[in-house]
Amino acid sequence: MTKMSKAPPKADGEAKMSKPSLYADRVQVYPRAVRGPARTFKWAVLTFCLTVYYLVPWIRWDRGPGQPGQAVLLDIGHERFHFFNVEFWPQDIYYLTGALILGAVSLFLVTSLVGRAWCGYACPQTVWTDLFMLIERMVQGDRNARMRRDQAPLSFDKIWRKTATHAAWLGVAFWTGGAWIMYYADAPTVTVEFWQGTASTPVYVFTFLFTATTYLLAGWAREQVCTYMCPWPRFQASMLDEHSLIVTYEAWRGEPRGHGKRAADAPRKLDAPALGDCIDCKACVNVCPTGIDIRDGVQLECINCGLCVDACNEMMEKTGQPKWLIKWDTFAHQEARAAGNHEPYHLLRPRTLIYVSALVLGFVIMGVAMANRAEIDLAIQRDRAPLFVTVRDGSLRNAYTVKISNKTHEAADFALSMKGVESAEMTVAEEGEGRMPILMLTVEPDSVGTFRVLVFGRPAHLVEGSQDLAFIARNTLTGEQKTYNSVFMGPGARATH
Ligand code: SF4
Ligand code: SF4
Repeated sequence: MTKMSKAPPKADGEAKMSKPSLYADRVQVYPRAVRGPARTFKWAVLTFCLTVYYLVPWIRWDRGPGQPGQAVLLDIGHERFHFFNVEFWPQDIYYLTGALILGAVSLFLVTSLVGRAWCGYACPQTVWTDLFMLIERMVQGDRNARMRRDQAPLSFDKIWRKTATHAAWLGVAFWTGGAWIMYYADAPTVTVEFWQGTASTPVYVFTFLFTATTYLLAGWAREQVCTYMCPWPRFQASMLDEHSLIVTYEAWRGEPRGHGKRAADAPRKLDAPALGDCIDCKACVNVCPTGIDIRDGVQLECINCGLCVDACNEMMEKTGQPKWLIKWDTFAHQEARAAGNHEPYHLLRPRTLIYVSALVLGFVIMGVAMANRAEIDLAIQRDRAPLFVTVRDGSLRNAYTVKISNKTHEAADFALSMKGVESAEMTVAEEGEGRMPILMLTVEPDSVGTFRVLVFGRPAHLVEGSQDLAFIARNTLTGEQKTYNSVFMGPGARATH
């Protein structure tokens, strides 16, 4: 657990009154390089994540003339989110909500199965910190060299290596910040504009912001982000149980720890304490990116990266002892093994089944919704002042603002009709055309057409001054239609309708 700072010794009376400080100075962590399956897998995930992040904005996608040619583009100016063949409008926000919910439930499922695998392998903080540590190691050497240099007085060697490290970090941070901007603007265009000095101010501001954030979080803050800034470690405990796979130390096998030869290697003195498998080499502590000792038990700081597993296996191989003194295991399995029993792994448990069911349901709902996604949208707002007007021929007139979204890439004619008020007719206010039961309205491709429509009618069934009126907009080319339920107002109407 997070350690509390040690206060200097106090006089007796003062010591009784004093409380431990809740603030602890940061202890610099110098992780050592390690090799093994966990490290290899971590490199693979890092390479995959960075490749996807940096390259995706450069993927081109032909959507036809006048349309953006970038496969993934968050076009905030035009209120569109392009994701390959799919285009999201602001009205489609519930798809984003659905995707976020699915992401959260997936994370719950992964955590309940394999602990903080997300934190240890795929979280952006972990990925970029790992990359920054790699740069640091390449320029300044491994753990011991870095520790020696940090404690040594200022020298040319120290200055150039530190400067080179920070310069490389800033370079990567700038590349990262710049790549982020490319998700919001056409990548080739914004790159040219950036270097010509003609890009918009937000482009420079956000590039600077993301550069600074990456540099500070991955270069300086590192494990402090996971331990103090991220809320996830606080509530991930609620997703774990005794059957979740986490990185554990086999204390029943490793203790008592100590240096020296084991019974298998050399005859032990009869009065000497029997040693466990842990040779107390601290390799597991030295490779840990958060600087903790897994032998102390499960800790909030542990991101389940498994580097201590690799380090310990390496030592066990060297000393000729069985591997996996530190391993991914469950509490239930560990307890059973300590008692010499066997406990099977339980992947299918009530909580994992609930998460899987929620995921399947969520994917089905999202899939059906996406498959039936409309390329037309209709929104109608009725005038509230005046609620209605009585015209010369005795009929009543209501005014509406009609918005038709044409999500196709071609101009479309929409037939706007009504249902609910018998013999009702309408006209577009500004056009001065005669009244008609159906209006033909043209909407430009990939845009919203806004029309002020006047409806004339003699409603026969007014209830408290209003009668239901439904508008139907139909794309005359595709036949797709959308209905919007509104009301028609007359005498006796209240403004609350
Ligand atoms: S204790 Fe092991 S698994 Fe946990 S963060 Fe440290 S190295 Fe990674
Ligand atoms: S690496 Fe293994 S043997 Fe070395 S201290 Fe850690 S647990 Fe013990």
